[in-house]
Amino acid sequence: MSAWVYHRPTTVGEAVRLLGCGGAVPLAGGQTLVPALTRTPGRRVMLVDLGAVTALRDITVNGAEVCIGAMATHTQIATDTLVRQALPSLALLASQIADLQVRNRATIGGSLAYNDPAGDYPAACVGLGATVITDRRRIPAEEFFTGAFSTALADSEVIVSLLFPMSPTLLRSAYARLPDRAARSALIGVMVAETESGFRVAISGLASGPTRWPDAEAALSKRPHPDALRDIACPPGGTDRYRAHLARTLTIRAVRSLTT
Ligand SMILES: Cc1cc2nc3c(=O)[nH]c(=O)nc-3n(C[C@H](O)[C@H](O)[C@H](O)COP(=O)(O)OP(=O)(O)OC[C@H]3O[C@@H](n4cnc5c(N)ncnc54)[C@H](O)[C@@H]3O)c2cc1C
Repeated sequence: MSAWVYHRPTTVGEAVRLLGCGGAVPLAGGQTLVPALTRTPGRRVMLVDLGAVTALRDITVNGAEVCIGAMATHTQIATDTLVRQALPSLALLASQIADLQVRNRATIGGSLAYNDPAGDYPAACVGLGATVITDRRRIPAEEFFTGAFSTALADSEVIVSLLFPMSPTLLRSAYARLPDRAARSALIGVMVAETESGFRVAISGLASGPTRWPDAEAALSKRPHPDALRDIACPPGGTDRYRAHLARTLTIRAVRSLTT
């Protein structure tokens, strides 16, 4: 007999109520959660499938921000006209994740809640200055990721959407990654964003979570050119010299391809 109890609410309110029942976990695309559950047979769990909460898939403009629902899939983000116009770096990132099968199921909310140090979205959210909206509060992306596979989410707290600043706050941005062919994720990923208050550089794959590179941000704010990065110290957290070298190379590559 299966130890899983399955619920499929249609509203955020119903999902939040079910998740408050203790032992319940949200199910998004299931691309990491389901394999994890099958590795621990007999574990009792109540799955609250967010797939029928259609409002969580919406992508809209909210003032000067793009609001992306937590259940938007990578394919949806890669192909959405609004995202492609306002945040082309994010659309490109989404199009490069894994394979079509994963992209068609996996979601941005699941990705952030999982917080794999090799994940692409955490660095993108920090680099672009995003805000995580949950059922009960707003969390700046920088405060959301608390360590490998760990976030600021409380038990039963649900990510509802992400807010990304767009023009005029965000002037231009670019994402560069080196895929790890064996793991099918990114070895290193770098988001570079030029905002009205200067540059932001956020890197995944270097440490237990997304890492800002303050020296690069200061150098680019003085001189927005790839050469500004050649002689500065390596990014923090880069104890692995190969990864630190890659981070610098990919940051240079991202600066070269900055687009509005
Ligand atoms: C073969 C493969 C290759 C991959 N390659 C990459 C890659 O190159 N780059 C990359 O960034 N990612 C990669 N991923 C990860 C993938 O993109 C997703 O991030 C990941 O599968 C989780 O998303 P999901 O929607 O499937 O979430 P699920 O597996 O359903 O859930 C993951 C976790 O998040 C929780 N959760 C889900 N939604 C919410 C919510 N709204 N609020 C609170 N908690 C929630 C769940 O309870 C669970 O703990 C890969 C995955 C696979 C299987």
